[in-house]
Amino acid sequence: MSIATGTASANSIKEALNNKTVHHFIGGQFESSASGDTFDDINPATGEVIAQISSGGVTEIDMAVSAAKEAFDRGPWPRMSLRERCDILRKIGDLILQYKEVLAHAETRDTGKPLSESLEGDIPRAAQNFQFFADYAQAITEECFTVSDNERHIAVREPLGVAALITPWNLPLYLSSWKIAPCLAMGNTCVLKPAEWTPFTAYLLGFIAKEAGLPPGVLNVVHGFGAHSAGEALTRHPDVSCISFTGETTTGKAIMSAAAQTLKKVSFELGGKGATIIFDDADLKEAIPTAVRAAYRNQGQICLAGSRLFVQEGVYKQVVEEVVAAVKQIRVGDPLDRNTQMGSIISLEQLEKVQEYIQHGKKEGKLLTGGDRVKELPNGYFLQPTVFSDLSFDSRCCQEEIFGPVLPIIPFKTEQQVIDMTNSTAYGLSASIWSSNVDTCHRVSQKIRTGILWVNCWFARDLRTPFGGQKSSGIGREGGRYALDFFSELKTISYKYKA
Ligand code: ADP
Repeated sequence: MSIATGTASANSIKEALNNKTVHHFIGGQFESSASGDTFDDINPATGEVIAQISSGGVTEIDMAVSAAKEAFDRGPWPRMSLRERCDILRKIGDLILQYKEVLAHAETRDTGKPLSESLEGDIPRAAQNFQFFADYAQAITEECFTVSDNERHIAVREPLGVAALITPWNLPLYLSSWKIAPCLAMGNTCVLKPAEWTPFTAYLLGFIAKEAGLPPGVLNVVHGFGAHSAGEALTRHPDVSCISFTGETTTGKAIMSAAAQTLKKVSFELGGKGATIIFDDADLKEAIPTAVRAAYRNQGQICLAGSRLFVQEGVYKQVVEEVVAAVKQIRVGDPLDRNTQMGSIISLEQLEKVQEYIQHGKKEGKLLTGGDRVKELPNGYFLQPTVFSDLSFDSRCCQEEIFGPVLPIIPFKTEQQVIDMTNSTAYGLSASIWSSNVDTCHRVSQKIRTGILWVNCWFARDLRTPFGGQKSSGIGREGGRYALDFFSELKTISYKYKA
């Protein structure tokens, strides 16, 4: 096995951005795969190969889990005070901000998302995830049940051990940090398996972890694929105590079944088919641009996207006209250009999947704008933002998660009708309601089956709140104390004192 160098300094992170091999990070060392196998890391905006990714499998997962277990069983991490652990996590957050430019370039190069979004959205949020949990974990309380002066029962939190963190490609560092920070704050160690399409910021995080003084083996990163590869090996490993996963619903089912063999605790954040609901009395000046942002941000590749737009019949015509006009103004282009609003789709595979939905949409409804690849950018996987009308709420485009820049607009007459249509999908992650009548907002928000419901806004987030979905959108909640609960085991210790 070859070992790459990993001295952490501002220079080395900058240099690592140009490295042509993405290594695993195991026990504090950067490692190639034992087999020497690699696969291409492709920039979806240009089709160019950025680097070779070390392709991990059972061997690398075994090494990483054993490094994490050693760090948990014998290393300093779970034995440090909470304050000391949180100081290191805060330092990681600070370093992410310090290296924001490098990380944002890496993220944009891997994902094809606009650089402005990486710089202003993804990377600062990744830093905030570490900083938030560094503070919040120290504020968490434990319970004491007093029976009498000489009998007390206390419920204490203990770490679980080695956690498996499996993350998707749409918000790579943002979602990895959302899991790593609470996991480590509670004293666990972990193995992160980032998405095969977007390994680079997870690789760079290894340099940051070293520079922040994170002990070896506390954070391990193994690259590779999902099924029959590193991902699956991690979910089956007997020394892994819990799995926190974000990705597709079908993958969640496969992971749950693999995890059942060793009864691991699971937390799943899965797909979504978010609805934006505009009532006749909504403030359209706010609702329309927000509905457009909700549909096309990150090329529509967000589980929280408002990927169905329901509009009450009184304003339907006006909303359709204004949405189409706004969508035609979206600047699709080179992600590195600061004026670009929409970049490329993550991969050719995903582009073809979205195009298949567009074909269904064309057959079953009316294409109002978009629908094609961007001809001026033939090397990248760019798609025009697309709007459909005349699609039935139960058509495939309105029921299935497309995860691309495609928005069907569907009219409705009554409150009950839109509630039924919104609830008709298998998913239940998020919805956003627009009305100036507080009673309407209140009534409708009670009846929509989602984990997150926005009233006259979209994507408003407070990291203390529970985040997750109902139905096929997930199991459990992330965020705030819900994440800290997941990454800890409760133990009751009962005391009897001599009077
Ligand atoms: P996405 O389409 O967002 O990539 P996936 O669910 O396919 O969603 O992938 C999310 C993450 O899950 C990736 O890191 C991927 O490699 C991993 N993964 C996919 N299949 C499996 C599996 N069977 N077991 C474990 N991990 C998997």
